[in-house]
Amino acid sequence: MQRARLILPALTVTALALFAQVPAGDAAPAMEWREVFNEDGTITQTLTPKPATKTTTGFRTLAAAEVTRIYGDRDPSDAFDLVFVGDGYTSDDMATYTANVKSKWDELSAVEPFASYKKYFNVWQVDVISPESGVDHDPTKGILKDTALDMGFWCQGRDANTERLLCVDETKAKEYAALAPQADQVIALGNTTKYGGAGGSVATAAGSNAQAGQIAIHELGHSIGDLADEYDYPYLTYTGSEPREVNVTKDPTGAKWGEYLNQPSPDGGVIAPIEGARYYKNGLYRPTANSIMRTLGKEFNLIGRDAMIKAFKAKIPSLTDPASPPTPAN
Ligand SMILES: [Zn+2]
Repeated sequence: MQRARLILPALTVTALALFAQVPAGDAAPAMEWREVFNEDGTITQTLTPKPATKTTTGFRTLAAAEVTRIYGDRDPSDAFDLVFVGDGYTSDDMATYTANVKSKWDELSAVEPFASYKKYFNVWQVDVISPESGVDHDPTKGILKDTALDMGFWCQGRDANTERLLCVDETKAKEYAALAPQADQVIALGNTTKYGGAGGSVATAAGSNAQAGQIAIHELGHSIGDLADEYDYPYLTYTGSEPREVNVTKDPTGAKWGEYLNQPSPDGGVIAPIEGARYYKNGLYRPTANSIMRTLGKEFNLIGRDAMIKAFKAKIPSLTDPASPPTPAN
């Protein structure tokens, strides 16, 4: 493990080019589906008002933030770069933040296939400092905090039904994540002990809640492995075309999984089609009863694990270079 510190300037020329032209949007109350993670490990979807697009006049300013490499020593062009940003951590809370990032990475990197491939990761911690400690609507609705990334339960107060939906301003989170040399996946941790998290282009998790790290693992199944969700909420019957994701099929014979059929799977049982997947109770099939793409705390199934490994190989050139050491065994 190696620690390398670098201080990056607030607003580089590249950042100016990227963020100066953000168009002014209107605040149409569009809705979007969001993934919700329940404390018992089950996962569902909830319909949530989209955040209003903020009008940008002139240049948006970014605070400077210290970036620390907490794991890995690889060139970002030959690594998977995981970037943590934090919200609701004041300068006095930085020790808590550092401990939260470490515990989430420890949890994630203990799960296969990350455990076998962790040496191909760089993990970056961006020290985002907030004026106030904590996140919005914690511990109860209506309590507001002045924080850098505007994180809050009840999806920042937008959703009336789902307390554990912990949303973040994804634009701000990505701006801070861009201070790291490269971001293949961004995880935003909130300074809270209360269970919560959300999916999306920025995954979120409660920093001081021990269970919340599972959310990030599930999200990496989407972002690295391009895996579909294997839960069957909220729809009834699927009538569309064959899904592109490798871990779901509309074919009840499971022929898509070829020689994987009947092979033992790390999450238990063997690969065999089970009805109910990708938001539908009927008409779509998953490869095993209960992988992490269906329930937090479970393993990836064999199809999912191999998809992740294939994606690592595509992302990390030296993994497929014949001159490099062989792929680690599972
Ligand atoms: Zn999901």
